[in-house]
Amino acid sequence: MRLVIAIDGPAASGKGTLAKRLAAHYRLPHLDTGLLYRAVALALVDAGTSLNDAGAAAGAAAALDAGSLDDPRLRDRAMGEAASRVSAVPEVRAALLAWQRRFAADPAGAVLDGRDIGTVVCPDAPVKLFITASSAERARRRHRELAGRGEAATLEAIRADIEARDARDAGRAAAPLRMAEDAVRLDTTDLDAEAAFARALTLVEDARARIG
Ligand code: C5P
Repeated sequence: MRLVIAIDGPAASGKGTLAKRLAAHYRLPHLDTGLLYRAVALALVDAGTSLNDAGAAAGAAAALDAGSLDDPRLRDRAMGEAASRVSAVPEVRAALLAWQRRFAADPAGAVLDGRDIGTVVCPDAPVKLFITASSAERARRRHRELAGRGEAATLEAIRADIEARDARDAGRAAAPLRMAEDAVRLDTTDLDAEAAFARALTLVEDARARIG
């Protein structure tokens, strides 16, 4: 059976790491869909265009090419915030939806992680996980990751960023961040990366056994 794994959750919940590891385990292609929104934001920044220009954002989404997803600047802290602003534009979401659905249609299946994979992009995915962790723990993880990349910011500032971004992502009208009704929630607050992966693997195997 074609295996599509939909993984959603708030910022820095660990969903990206889990998605990558599940994809490697099942030998499936993986798409970090946040990168698409970050790339749209970066295209606007590079062109000197305001992030509030919805028409320009829609144009950048329609013109997005896969090569631009490798830019290391996409992982910068400011780009998460900028992505969250352009991601509220319905035309941006529509352009990126087609891209994500093409990716998910791979004959082998696919692993996608984001905010609306289980609810909008792949509503029929047989396996849906919703990854959470407390905002304090998510801020600690993001702080470590940014420090590793030489980007200094206080823990408090990062936590404020994350909470503001979650509120915007959950509060927007177009495809808000929320758990699909048929998703399974995995709280990783007290789990290290190994334990979270082991738990996720069990949940995927349970779901696969259920669907036969
Ligand atoms: O996951 P990441 O932090 O890279 O996502 C950056 C931003 O892109 C999110 O805060 C959210 O606004 C947006 N996004 C989205 N839908 C997705 C993935 C990301 O709206 N499927």
